[in-house]
Order: sequence, then structure tokens, then C-alpha cells
Amino acid sequence: MPELPEVETIRRTLAEHVTELKIEEIRLFWPSAVIGWEGRSFEAMVTGRRIQTIDRRGKYLLIRLDEDLTLIAHMRMTGRLNYYVDHQEPEKHTHVVFRLEQGEVHFSDVRKFGRIQAIPTPLCISGSTLCKLGPEPLELEFTPEVLKERFGKKKLPLKAALLDQHVLAGLGNIYVDESLFKAGITPTRGVDSLSEEEVFNLHQAIQSVLQAGIDAQGTSFRDYRDANGEKGSFERELQVYGRSGEPCKVCGQTLERLRLAGRTTVYCTRCQK
Ligand SMILES: [Zn+2]
Repeated sequence: MPELPEVETIRRTLAEHVTELKIEEIRLFWPSAVIGWEGRSFEAMVTGRRIQTIDRRGKYLLIRLDEDLTLIAHMRMTGRLNYYVDHQEPEKHTHVVFRLEQGEVHFSDVRKFGRIQAIPTPLCISGSTLCKLGPEPLELEFTPEVLKERFGKKKLPLKAALLDQHVLAGLGNIYVDESLFKAGITPTRGVDSLSEEEVFNLHQAIQSVLQAGIDAQGTSFRDYRDANGEKGSFERELQVYGRSGEPCKVCGQTLERLRLAGRTTVYCTRCQK
């Protein structure tokens, strides 16, 4: 599933091609992939609009259109947005084609969990699920104090708390396991058990792991591709995620696996305390 670094990479690669372009036609091959607003159809709202900028909030892509409209795209498991400069025939899992004044954007999704919703921009800021998201981990406002405050008095294991998008936006299974390894903290620890120094280390680890993920254009285990159809390369830098039973790259100890918050969790019993 695309997490913050993957969605940020899609944002950057898509913005290079589509900024300032008008959407001339919408072709729907699986209409449930799109959602309109209060009885207005997605096609009616979006056709003829011009793309102004592309933003990101957590794992959501926000495509800003003129006339105060925003498309909220959530890739979920296997959603992809691809830009093609020339006309491209839709493939088996292409659900929506946005024909632009130059080129096309195809939204495809094998598992069909991804969605694109058209919503008036003011509501997008004040009235949608987006406002319930926790802070952006790479923004200046995100400090160790904020992280501690977001944990609050919860008794949750760290793994569960960091996966919760209301605590912090954008992290999923890959970057949570990698951040906890980098911080040297065991994922089963309760959030209320961290010392001040551990909160500081975790904050640093989250930021550096996410930034490294963006620098590598994301992690491509299965379906993730950027808007140019390119894979990321962060999987080469993974220390724990997907490596259970293999030796720790730091100490050589065999990495352990357990199920936590419903997700497979990999960690090193020697490097993480
Ligand atoms: Zn180790």
C-alpha cells in the first residue's frame, strides 16, 4: 500500500506533467471508482476544469482544480495514477481516464479499493475526513513535543499508535517498522512507556526514514509505481520490513516476526529495546 513517500512521489511526478492543463473528457470504465458531491456526477463536476496544483495530506493526493474544486485520490492497496503523453488504450484494470488538453491520466486499481472523490475545496479543508488526520510528519510543526502530545495517555503498543492516521498522518506498515528499528525501540512497547529521549529518537527516526523513502522514490514491493510508471528503490534500504528470518543488517541476529495491530511486524530483539 502506498504510504507517505510513495504518495509524495506520485504527487511530484504527476505535477510535472499535468499542472495548468484542462481536463477535457472523463471516461469511466468502472464508475464506482469515482464519487461526486451531493447528487452531482463526478464527470459533470470535473469536465472542463483546469488543474492548478497537486497537494498531499497523509496518504491522500489532493488535485486542486479551478472553481474551488478538489479531487481527493486515495490509492488504498493497489491504486495507480499514470500519465501518458500520447493516447493510450485502457488496460484491464483501468477504471478512469482523464483526457487532458495534452496527454491522459489513467487511474487503475487491481484490487478496486482506491477512490477519487470530487469535493468543494472549502469543505475539503473544514468538513472531511482529512481534518481528522494527525500532523504531517515532515512539516516544521511536527516536533518531539507534538509526537508525545499525540500519543497522549494511550495504552496502545507503539506499532498500533503509529499506524493510526489520527495520531500521525502518512505512516503504514513499512515505514512504522523501519522507524521503530532506526529509533531502537521494540514495537510492542506501550506509548506511555517512552522516556523523553526515546520520544526524541523516534521523532528523528520517523523523519529520516520518510525522507529517505522519498529520496528513493518510494518502495515498490508489488504494485506501486509513480506517475511515469517507474518503480521506487527504497526496498534495497529496508532494515526490517519484509526481512523476518533474515539476519539484522546491524548486529546479525535473526529478525523476529509477530502480529501486532493486525499487521505483520518485523524487528530485531537485540537492536530494539
Ligand atoms: Zn540487530
